[in-house]
Amino acid sequence: MNKITNHLPTAELQALDAAHHMHPFTAGAALAKKGARVMTQGKGVWLTDSEGHKIIDGMAGLWCVNIGYGRSELGVVAARQMEELAYYNTFFQTTHVPAIALAAKLAELAPGDLNHVFFAGSGSEANDTNIRLVRRYWQIKEQPQKRIIIARKNGYHGSTMGGGSLGGMTYIHAHGGKIDGIEHIGQPHWWAEGGEMTPEAFGLMRAQELEAKILELGVENVAAFIGEPIQGAGGVIVPPSTYWPEIQRIVDKYGILLIADEVITGFGRTGNWFGSQTFGIKPHIMTIAKGLSSGYAPIGGSIVCDEIAKTVGEAGDFNHGYTYSGHPVAAAVALENLRILEEEKIIDHVRDVAHPYLAERWNALTDHPMVGEAKLVGLMGSIALTPDKATRAKFAGEEGKVGFRCRERCFANDLIMRHVGDRMIIAPPLVITPAEIDVLMERAWKSLDECYAGLKADGLFVSA
Ligand SMILES: *Cc1c(COP(=O)(O)O)cnc(C)c1O
Repeated sequence: MNKITNHLPTAELQALDAAHHMHPFTAGAALAKKGARVMTQGKGVWLTDSEGHKIIDGMAGLWCVNIGYGRSELGVVAARQMEELAYYNTFFQTTHVPAIALAAKLAELAPGDLNHVFFAGSGSEANDTNIRLVRRYWQIKEQPQKRIIIARKNGYHGSTMGGGSLGGMTYIHAHGGKIDGIEHIGQPHWWAEGGEMTPEAFGLMRAQELEAKILELGVENVAAFIGEPIQGAGGVIVPPSTYWPEIQRIVDKYGILLIADEVITGFGRTGNWFGSQTFGIKPHIMTIAKGLSSGYAPIGGSIVCDEIAKTVGEAGDFNHGYTYSGHPVAAAVALENLRILEEEKIIDHVRDVAHPYLAERWNALTDHPMVGEAKLVGLMGSIALTPDKATRAKFAGEEGKVGFRCRERCFANDLIMRHVGDRMIIAPPLVITPAEIDVLMERAWKSLDECYAGLKADGLFVSA
C-alpha cells in the first residue's frame, strides 16, 4: 500500500514543499524561504504539527471542519463506498444511491421550496453553476438579456473565473481578470465605512444601493443578486439588522433572483442549519460546500427552488456539469457528516452552549486597549483592531500590517486565528467545548497583549 509518511524531518519536508508545491493565495518565494508549517494530525479542535506542537484550530481548517477532526466514521463510510461503487457519473440518464440520498436529505434540511440539488466539487464550482443557471432560467423565460448578476464589494464567492468575478475582491480580479455581466455594490461594513451614521441607517443605505443599481442597469437586464448572509473571507462582516430585510424587499419588488452563498454559513455555523434562517432570508438558490462534508471530502452544490428547477428541467438539456458532480464517495461522506451533525445535536450545542459561552468572553475582548468592536454570530466571530476606539481609526501605514503581526503572535502561541486586514477572525469547529473555549481565549488574550506591546515598542500604535 502506498502510505504517506510524516517521517522526514521538518526541514526536509519544507524543502520539498518549497521545491514542488505551489500554495493557493500565497507569496510562493517568501514562503519557500521561511518554510511552511507542516500539519500532521487532527483530533476534535486540535491540530498537531511535525514538531509536535498542539495547536487549537480557531478556523476549523478553512471554515469547514464543522464536526471536528478525526471522526473515523467518515473514513469507514468512504472505504465502504469505494469498494461498492467508487465512481459513476450522473450525466447520461444514470444516478446512484449516495447522490440520491444526499440530494433528498438536503431538500429535507433546506428551508422553503429549496428542493433540488445540482452537485459540484467545491463552492467555487457551485457558484459557476449558479451563473449559468440563472442566465439559463431567464433565457427560457424569454428574457435572455436578463444576465447581469449584482454582488458586493469585498464579498467572496470562490476563485474560479466565475466565482472570482462574483467576488468583490479587486486583488483577485487583478490576477487574470473578471468575466462580463457582474456588477458590485457597497458592502454593509459599518465599522470601516459607516462614518457618523448609526449601524441601522447605514445598513439600510447599503441595501438601497441594490435598488439604485437595478434602476441604473434596468431591471430588464438584471438576473440575480448574490450575497453571503455574513461575509466570511471579507472579515466576518455581520450586517446591521436592517440590511437583509431591505435586500429581501428589493429583490421581491423587482422580481430578481436571490442567491444566498451559504458556503460558510451553512451547516450550523450560525446556530441554525443555514444562515438564511438566522437572518430571515428567502433565497431562490443556496450555494453550499465546506461544512457540507466538514471538509472530509471535496463537495459543493447549489440547492435550487422548485420554480427554477422545473423551468430549467422542462426546457431540454442544461449544458453544464462536472465529472465529479455528486461523486459517490464525497456524497457518502457528506451524508455521514450530516448524520453526525443531526444525531449528536451539534447545532443545538452551538446555539445553547458554545455560542453563549464564547460570546460573553469574545465580547469582553473590547476591554483590550486595541480591540474596537467584537462580533459573534453562532461560532463565527471577528474583532476590529484599532489605535483609537472612539473614532474607529485605522492604523497608520499599510492596512493589514497590524493584523498580520497579531496573527504571527497567535501562531507562535499555538492558536490559529486569521487576520483580514486589521480584523482578527475565528470560526472554530462547532464541537468546541467550554473548556476548549477557555484555552482559545487565553491564547487570544496573550497574543493580543504581545502584539500590543510590540506595536508600542516599535512606535506603531498610531492612527492613520
Ligand atoms: C470558500 C468559499 C467559497 C469557495 O469555495 P471553494 O470550495 O473554496 O471553491 C465560496 N463562497 C464562500 C462564501 C466561501 O467562503
